[in-house]
Amino acid sequence: MEDELEYTPKKSWEIYASEQEREMIFELADRYLDFVTQCKNERKTVEWVREKALQAGFSEDVNSPRFIKMAKNKTVLLARKGRKPFKQGVRLLGAHADTPRLDFKQFPLHENNEVAMAKTHYYGGIRKHQWFSRPLALHGVVVKTDGSSVEINLGDNQGDPVFVIADLLPHLASKQNEQTVSKAFEAEKMNVILGNSPVVDTQDESEENGAGADMDKNKIKKHVLQLLSENYGIKEEDLYSAEIHAVPAGNASYVGLDKSLLGGYGHDDRICVFCGLEAMLREEDPEYNQVVIFWDKEEIGSEGATGARSYFMEYCLQDLLDAWEPETKLSEVFESAKAVSADVHGGLDPDHQDLHDQLNASKLGYGPVFSKFTGHRGKLGANDATAEYVAWFRNLLNNAGVPWQMAELGKVDMGGGGTVAKFLAMYGMDIIDFGPSVLGMHSPFEITSTADLYATYLAYREFLKN
Ligand code: MN
Ligand code: MN
Repeated sequence: MEDELEYTPKKSWEIYASEQEREMIFELADRYLDFVTQCKNERKTVEWVREKALQAGFSEDVNSPRFIKMAKNKTVLLARKGRKPFKQGVRLLGAHADTPRLDFKQFPLHENNEVAMAKTHYYGGIRKHQWFSRPLALHGVVVKTDGSSVEINLGDNQGDPVFVIADLLPHLASKQNEQTVSKAFEAEKMNVILGNSPVVDTQDESEENGAGADMDKNKIKKHVLQLLSENYGIKEEDLYSAEIHAVPAGNASYVGLDKSLLGGYGHDDRICVFCGLEAMLREEDPEYNQVVIFWDKEEIGSEGATGARSYFMEYCLQDLLDAWEPETKLSEVFESAKAVSADVHGGLDPDHQDLHDQLNASKLGYGPVFSKFTGHRGKLGANDATAEYVAWFRNLLNNAGVPWQMAELGKVDMGGGGTVAKFLAMYGMDIIDFGPSVLGMHSPFEITSTADLYATYLAYREFLKN
């Protein structure tokens, strides 16, 4: 009896201990690692989601019971008709497909001391020092004036070169070492190295006509431009209408002798995209209508036409209502909705425990994490889920035997963060942040738990089903 009075969080590995469950954990993790290795920006992620959804019979026809709609190739909404009408509630899950990275500036190419480089402007919250002296890949698109689009995908395929921002050698770093981390690494010095060899002159007339000095100028940059032209058919001006991201090169992989952890770029928040999509595609006959959205721009405040603060979701739901249930008002749908802001949580780092309140910190391997509120200082900027909604959710997962934990990000006044939750809460729906715990969040190689991936997938299934 006493044991039942006191609460002890449950470990994912102990709940999923059978041989069969272990097999399912690693089957899911193998597929996730492949996904997160392949999809390194929002466009790739959304395209991957679209392909899987179309294979599962989703259609861009709003009259279809399985509807998919894209916004500018960066955000995607999926909806599936359930057995109950919209006005009795909808199950809505939102995650984000964008990740912190280094975007090329619009005029990026330059040659500095005979090294061709690309200037960058970081996107999202990064710790700059983590991005030096490590292999980078380039992903993105270049759109030409005729409307055609060229995909850039360099540095992640067998035989590709990679790119890098050189860090200072320790021998000359004594001055930098004395600076604070926030001052020591300057954004304007995060230039990606693109090449070091000069363009080959086809005509050797330069010296005769006296233009030698001019021809020598920018020969390295010109070589890069020549290669861009040969390989992609683009010229320098085309980069003005480009979105090129420098991201960590290389594969996601298991971490640890026991493969109990997953390391990779972009768990935040592609792990929730993956689990949300898997859950939706497998929950084929739901009681309530399901809506799953994968947004862009969460990392820079959910702004813009493809962010969670846009009207995209509202427009889609209005279209669905008109097609499926014209007699119901949109406000009725929102007010009866139950929603999950599927996003990762900053877990207790064993080396930095002092930053966390141990009783209210999330831990790897204890299932997905509820964050009743986010924000900073006196809960400023927080969505704060109601106690009623937390109780409903607790009951749902306990009945299903899925592990979960409840936490807040760090000690009070230590920092904070936000998610899309508050932008959806404005509609009057019940919503709570809920996703797996991650170490090294926003770093080039984030860590999460293999068993929590599985638990998160099952938790999202339960949510979308009931
Ligand atoms: Mn996130
Ligand atoms: Mn984030």
